[in-house]
Amino acid sequence: MAIDLQASWSDEDIQAWRETVVRFVEDEVAPADALARKNGHLDPAFWRRAGELGMLCTDIPESMGGIGGDFRHEVVLQEEMARRGLLSLNTGVHSIAAHYLMNHGTPEQQARFLPRMVSGELVGAIAMTEPGAGSDLQSIRTRARLDGDEWVLNGSKTFISNGLLAGLIMVVAKTDPHAGAKGISIFIVETAQTPGFRVGRLIDKIGLHGQDTTELFFEDMRLPRSALLGGQEGRGFAQLMGDLPYERTIIGVISVAAMEGALAATVAYARERQVFGQSLMEFQNTKFKLAEIATLVKVGRTFIDHCITQVNDGTLDTTTASMAKLWCSETQARVIDECLQLFGGYGYTNDYMIGRMYTDARIQRIYGGSNEIMKEVISRAL
Ligand SMILES: Cc1cc2nc3c(=O)[nH]c(=O)nc-3n(C[C@H](O)[C@H](O)[C@H](O)COP(=O)(O)OP(=O)(O)OC[C@H]3O[C@@H](n4cnc5c(N)ncnc54)[C@H](O)[C@@H]3O)c2cc1C
Repeated sequence: MAIDLQASWSDEDIQAWRETVVRFVEDEVAPADALARKNGHLDPAFWRRAGELGMLCTDIPESMGGIGGDFRHEVVLQEEMARRGLLSLNTGVHSIAAHYLMNHGTPEQQARFLPRMVSGELVGAIAMTEPGAGSDLQSIRTRARLDGDEWVLNGSKTFISNGLLAGLIMVVAKTDPHAGAKGISIFIVETAQTPGFRVGRLIDKIGLHGQDTTELFFEDMRLPRSALLGGQEGRGFAQLMGDLPYERTIIGVISVAAMEGALAATVAYARERQVFGQSLMEFQNTKFKLAEIATLVKVGRTFIDHCITQVNDGTLDTTTASMAKLWCSETQARVIDECLQLFGGYGYTNDYMIGRMYTDARIQRIYGGSNEIMKEVISRAL
C-alpha cells in the first residue's frame, strides 16, 4: 500500500516542506543515526546542523526566534524519521521543552533560550522521572529551596532523553513538599553554567540505541531566582498538564508513521522473498495478515490526522490525546511484531529496519505516561 502523503491537514506549503524534510532525513539524518546507534548518542554538531537547516522547533513563532511554522511542520519531520526507523534525533522532547518556554516562560526566558533552541545550540530535555517516582509524579523527591537570591536543588532523575547532550533541561522539583500538586515547580537549568549539576551514566536500553538516555544528579545545584519557569512557584503541575495533548499526539504520530514504514517495507519484502517456489506474498496467510495490518494502519492514520488537526487548532482535549497515545502505541507494537514475523529470521537481525523498529516500538507504551495511566485518564472522563 502506498503511503498517502496527502493528509487532510496538508496543503501546498506542507507538501513542499515534506520534500525538504525527506531530503534532510535521507541525506543527513540516516548517516548520523547509524553513527549514533554505535555511539549511544548523536554527534552534538548534528543538532546544530539540524538547526541551521531550520528543522528545530518549527512551530515556534518568528517573534520568539522560530521559523514561524505550525504543528504540521513538526509532524512532518517526526513522520519522515519514524517511517524510516530513524529515531536518534529526539526533536519531540526538544520541542516539548521549547513549548514549556513558549507557553509558560517569561518574555526574558523566551528571549534568552528559544532562539538558541531553534539554532540547535541548546538541546532541550525534560526531567521529571526519578528512581522512586515515574507514573506517580507527585511523589518526586527532588527539592528546591530558596537561599537568598538563589534556588538550591538536591535530588536525582533517571531515564532523561537527550540527557547527555542537553544544554537546557526543564527540571521538575518540589518547592513545597506539603502542598501536593501545588508544591511542584519547573526550573530551567542551563547545564553548562550550573554548579552542582552532573550527568550520570548512559542507560543501556534494549532499543533506541542512538538516543542518549541518562541519569542526572543535582548536588546543591545553584540556580538564579530567574530560573523558575514563568517566575511563579507551585505552577509546575499545571504547566506540565497543559502540554499533554501536544506530547501525546507526537507519540501517536511516531507510532502511525512507524507502522506505515513497517507495512511498506514488509510488502516489498514479501513480494521479493521466494519460499516453496513462490513469492511469500502469494500465500493467503501473508495476504490476510497484510490486509489486517493495512486496515489498522488506515484506522490509525485517520484518527491521528484528526488529532493533528485539533492540536494545530488548539482544540484537542487530554482524553482524546490519551486515546491516541494508547491506541496508536498498542497497535504499533502489534503491527510491527506481525511484520517482523513475515521477515522470518531476517527480521530478527540488525540488517533489516524491521528489527530495529521492533525494539524501538516497545517504549512507546511506557513513556509519555504509561498506557495504564492513559486508561486511568480516559476512564475519568467516562
Ligand atoms: C527510553 C526512555 C525515555 C524516557 N524519557 C524520559 C524523559 O525524557 N523525561 C522523563 O522525565 N522521563 C522519561 N522516561 C521515563 C518514563 O516516562 C517512565 O519510565 C514512565 O513514566 C513510567 O514510570 P516508571 O518507569 O517509574 O514505572 P512505574 O511508575 O514504576 O510503573 C510500573 C508499572 O506500573 C504501572 N502503573 C503505575 N501506576 C499505575 C496505576 N495507577 N494504575 C495501574 N498501573 C499503574 C505502570 O503502567 C507500569 O506498567 C523515559 C523512559 C525511557 C525508558
